[in-house]
Amino acid sequence: MKKRFKSYATLGLVATVILGGTAVSASDGGEPVEPSNQAKNVIFLIPDGFSQSYANSYKLYKDELPIWDELNLFRSHVMTHSSNEAITDSAAAGTAFATGKKTDNGVIGLSPDGEELPTIVDIAKQAGKRTGLVSTSTITHATPAAFAAKVESRGSYTEIAKQMIENDNLDLLFGGGRTEFLPPESGGIREDGLDLIDYAEENDYTYLETRRQLLNWDGESEKMLGLFAEEALEPAFTQRTDEPSLGEMTETAIEFLSADEDGFFLMVEGSQIDWAGHDNDPLYAMTDTEAFEEAVKAAIDYAEENQDTLVVMVGDHDTGGMAVHASEAAHPKHLKEVNALGLDMAQMVDHNYSNLRDVLEEQTNFEWTDEELDELKEAESLKLAINHAISEKTGFGWSSYNHTGIDVPLYAYGAGAEKFSGTIDNTDVPKKMLEALGLSGL
Ligand SMILES: [Zn+2]
Repeated sequence: MKKRFKSYATLGLVATVILGGTAVSASDGGEPVEPSNQAKNVIFLIPDGFSQSYANSYKLYKDELPIWDELNLFRSHVMTHSSNEAITDSAAAGTAFATGKKTDNGVIGLSPDGEELPTIVDIAKQAGKRTGLVSTSTITHATPAAFAAKVESRGSYTEIAKQMIENDNLDLLFGGGRTEFLPPESGGIREDGLDLIDYAEENDYTYLETRRQLLNWDGESEKMLGLFAEEALEPAFTQRTDEPSLGEMTETAIEFLSADEDGFFLMVEGSQIDWAGHDNDPLYAMTDTEAFEEAVKAAIDYAEENQDTLVVMVGDHDTGGMAVHASEAAHPKHLKEVNALGLDMAQMVDHNYSNLRDVLEEQTNFEWTDEELDELKEAESLKLAINHAISEKTGFGWSSYNHTGIDVPLYAYGAGAEKFSGTIDNTDVPKKMLEALGLSGL
């Protein structure tokens, strides 16, 4: 095992020397050669809940290669277990990605003993870089929170909001969750009465609230806070006109962060792929993955122009234990014949199910038998039953409403991408990103 690792490491070195274009041979001796393509910037994209089955189903849904397969970016499998469970939650997984340390499920930014852990954001800032976090959930949700806050329990959203705004190592926050930053008299839920949006504006933040403001941003800001929804943003499939897409948030974030000549670290989360998995909703999962791919494209476009940029994409865990059951009759491409998410369809159905057939026939192009309708009526959750029926008609299987413990695929592009290979632990991911930046400290 050790020997095999060594030979891979050697291969890696040869590869970096060639990639770096530096003329060096073993006989030169002396210090190991720094590849000339050392990263200055890292864009870390996290499709929450996305595993290999999502990758395969999405390829079928799209009927062409997504950018990560088109460019052949697969590098590594990543183990996701937390310090206390084989199956992680997003708090422990986010903490592993942010700090390089395992912690218990539910914990943000702290070790299992409660010790405060430094993050890749802190180290990037110490190196003079700009830093930013983007998500489609509330920005205080577990994954982004792990990069900016320290709390025993991921549910302490208003405390996380306060820590995020007070965190001097952060320059940009884009996502949802306005109510967690505001006191009740301003439409918020903060019991301490603080108005963190006012506080942010007094402390050099430019504050944005709508898609129009984001798209018309003048390019002049010290720091940026964008809270584009009271709670989470809408799912990509039902995106509101006044809310930006994940791709749009990512583009502006890159524009702002890259203005610093010392480089930047950006984390972008496709938060709701996970929520789709919890709902066992294939349309929600595929359309939020599609929106996430736009963010990946924005990152890769930047990295193509700026070769000192490393782009890494990896989910924090699988959600739902999705299986690929596709056949010609039941194929993910048939999701294009579905017009509503399961959660919305369930709400359209009245209490005595009198319009169930009408809703299903209006919102899908599928045939529905009386037997299928009877099954839906008997189900404990109409939403889940509709999602399972549509899954069956479009080639998706599910084994759980929660996360599962399967390894997840990691994709990488650009400077330092070759550092990822074989099966690695989730705690290795930030360490390798720092290594690509020529930094350490986790
Ligand atoms: Zn989840």
